[in-house]
Amino acid sequence: MSRPNLNQPPSGDAPDPRFPIPHSPTPTACQRNPRLFDFANGDRTHDRAATEKRLEHARKACSRCPIATDCLQWALVNKPLTRLGIFAATTPGQRTELRKRLADRLGPDWIDVLAEQDQTRRARAAAARNHPLTVSQTRVVRLDRDVNGPMPTHRLLTPAQQQRNLTRLAASLKTAS
Ligand code: SF4
Repeated sequence: MSRPNLNQPPSGDAPDPRFPIPHSPTPTACQRNPRLFDFANGDRTHDRAATEKRLEHARKACSRCPIATDCLQWALVNKPLTRLGIFAATTPGQRTELRKRLADRLGPDWIDVLAEQDQTRRARAAAARNHPLTVSQTRVVRLDRDVNGPMPTHRLLTPAQQQRNLTRLAASLKTAS
């Protein structure tokens, strides 16, 4: 059984509709050379050296992929579809570990938390496109960046971190007014 293709997910289990399938404007390495990304737990027992070499090539290709972040998230939230294969440089075993860590950090409903954060992010991006910020909103955004640092792009904030940032921003706004 080979790894599913992101562009043609298997018909049995449907992908979680809250997470769009990552799309690259140009064919990704796993689309150009799917065999390189085939991997199942236990593959190393046959020809360990050859498997490690192939994994190394796949990981290198993923490290240069423009949609690696979205690919990893998609693979993590769609466990039934990604039991096999390399996705975003991770093996199935490594993804199991990452899912455990996400559950520790965000709670047992971590997929719902990610979906909500994703939806908020997309809504904000759409709102920013349709309604550019006013002068006072821009000031708040700047203040937020000053007190909380730049918004992380490859790391998700936990609800506790969001609350802490909000408290800091509220305190700074009070001082500034
Ligand atoms: S990160 Fe790797 S597995 Fe994911 S789309 Fe890119 S090349 Fe394919």
